[in-house]
Amino acid sequence: MSERTVLNPIQENLTRIRAEIAENTRLWGRDSKDIHLIAVSKTKPAEDIEYAIKAGQRDFGENRVQEALEKFVPLKRAYPDVRLHLIGPLQSNKVADAVAISDVIHSLDREKLALLLAAEMKKQGKQPKLFIQVNIGEEPQKAGITPIETPNFVVFCRKLDLPIVGLMCIPPHQEEPAPYFALLAKLAKENNLLELSMGMSEDFPKAIALGATYVRVGSAIFGART
Ligand SMILES: *Cc1c(COP(=O)(O)O)cnc(C)c1O
Repeated sequence: MSERTVLNPIQENLTRIRAEIAENTRLWGRDSKDIHLIAVSKTKPAEDIEYAIKAGQRDFGENRVQEALEKFVPLKRAYPDVRLHLIGPLQSNKVADAVAISDVIHSLDREKLALLLAAEMKKQGKQPKLFIQVNIGEEPQKAGITPIETPNFVVFCRKLDLPIVGLMCIPPHQEEPAPYFALLAKLAKENNLLELSMGMSEDFPKAIALGATYVRVGSAIFGART
């Protein structure tokens, strides 16, 4: 039997997702350097993340600070160019760890958190980039600033000198996401923010069509979460 390189399923998935991103980037006349793929590795073991790293992936997303620390302190030591994106709700008592471990935080969703982040960034001399999370469907159970409050919140964060780069959203489950993506893009534009963190496994092609610059893809790369 002839030898051939057997790819791990994670690496095959990454290749497929990258091709889909490239195809949609072309289709919608976007510039490929503006679109970043975050591989969302929450609940998955470090071993799975290493398969993705070996396939060239560098941006990873986690939603819990404790889990992020456990996996990414050693991973970042081994692979210093790996970037960690914190995409889940951030509790006040986890802010110091979040600033220490993250390169980007996508879930800035309240004034108190903005104040704590500003203080902690000053203390650590470290400035992870920040996305403001918008509760785009105005769902009571979801975190985020409402669309109507977003302009004032952006001003509040800018007065604190926080490195706000864009807006993030998770549209309502099982609804057509396109109008929500379009609304997030409009809000970002109105507030002079360049980056849009939107689109997951099910809907990232639509998010790219509507201006996403960071797509957060988990299960389509790492498989279903149990
Ligand atoms: C889990 C998660 C994702 C990835 O979801 P998939 O459907 O597995 O791609 C993206 N964004 C956030 C905020 C998440 O919590």
